[in-house]
Amino acid sequence: MFNPLSNEVLRQLADEFGTPLYVYDGEKIAEQYQLLQSAFNPASTRFFYACKSLTNINILRLINNLGCGIDCSSINEAYLAIQAGCSPNKILYTSNGIAFEEIVAATELGIHINIDSLSNLEKFGARFGHSYPVGIRLRPNIMAGGNLKISTGHEKSKFGIPLEDIQLVLDLVKTHNLQISGLHVHTGSEIKDVAVFLQVARLLIDLIPNFPELKCIDLGGGFKVPYQDNETGTDLKELGSKTAEIQAEIQRKFGKQLEIWFEPGKFLVSECGYLITKVNVLKQSGQILFAGINSGFNHLIRPMFYDAYHRIKNISHPNAPEKIYTITGNICETDQFAENRALAEIREGDYLVFYNAGAYGYEMASNYNARFKPAQVLIENGTSRLISRRDTLDDLLRLQIL
Ligand SMILES: *Cc1c(COP(=O)(O)O)cnc(C)c1O
Repeated sequence: MFNPLSNEVLRQLADEFGTPLYVYDGEKIAEQYQLLQSAFNPASTRFFYACKSLTNINILRLINNLGCGIDCSSINEAYLAIQAGCSPNKILYTSNGIAFEEIVAATELGIHINIDSLSNLEKFGARFGHSYPVGIRLRPNIMAGGNLKISTGHEKSKFGIPLEDIQLVLDLVKTHNLQISGLHVHTGSEIKDVAVFLQVARLLIDLIPNFPELKCIDLGGGFKVPYQDNETGTDLKELGSKTAEIQAEIQRKFGKQLEIWFEPGKFLVSECGYLITKVNVLKQSGQILFAGINSGFNHLIRPMFYDAYHRIKNISHPNAPEKIYTITGNICETDQFAENRALAEIREGDYLVFYNAGAYGYEMASNYNARFKPAQVLIENGTSRLISRRDTLDDLLRLQIL
């Protein structure tokens, strides 16, 4: 069961580093990686951390040191992964809609590449032929995931080469003698249902005979983690034993061993993260009691963008009797974090903490309203240290030409 950082530790960090503040518990990341290692066969399963969820170089280094690979969604993320010490063989670039030049840049780094359009696959074939192994990102036409915005495999999604175009893929492979080393599908985020991963695996198994040089089947990311008290995540033990069965089946049918790859983002870093904020103002308006905090969707956009639920707690007075609040931010925009939420009675100046803030939190933050992005702190081996400082006014001016 989830064992979050204590109120006391979080209060101390807020006092020391100021708010709003992102805090990451390195031990929790290691624990999550261990869960993956124990649920799957480590000899034939590889994990690539989808680093768009949190790209701070200290986090990348920690994850690399655990032995985990890194999955990138832009060439710049690949440069960050290299900077963090990750070897090219452990970096994967799963592209979508990118310029061909970035794919060329990825080959110069020597990293794994998944190509997601016929257009780029054709350019790749013309340029590299058989000389550089490549994976193809397919769109399975399956609707799955927490909501439409985070669903990437359905038949109206821009992601991947539509499965119905497989013959065109095969034509390109033949024309250019392409070395297809992987088949990739990422169906979306927050996929609780193990059956979705298995359904995708089934689709890919049927394609195996077409690609004699195949090394792996990449089932993407999207493992669900609990955001609410009564929720459970993806059953990894079950997925682990089912993927082992699938690998055995592939061995039996096709006489070859294929690795299974996954690209978990949220699973590795969501629960390790906390956003600590401070209450600026309380405002009673008829039945509604607003608690206005020193943050907004410029720091944590998930509630507004995805209607995401984040647990919130008053860590300054955790034992006070509860009242019902609407939690809002301080930017000039409707930036509501939660409505009708029962919280221990709040006084102005209290710290409110948002849980599950590690993934797609700081990473999606902006300087909207010319507000500073929060500082970030990592707790590792029992010590906490700043891994990015808070902005200053100079940072806001840094790129402007005066
Ligand atoms: C975003 C993304 C992931 C990670 O998704 P999570 O829900 O964070 O696990 C994995 N693979 C690809 C290609 C992605 O774009």
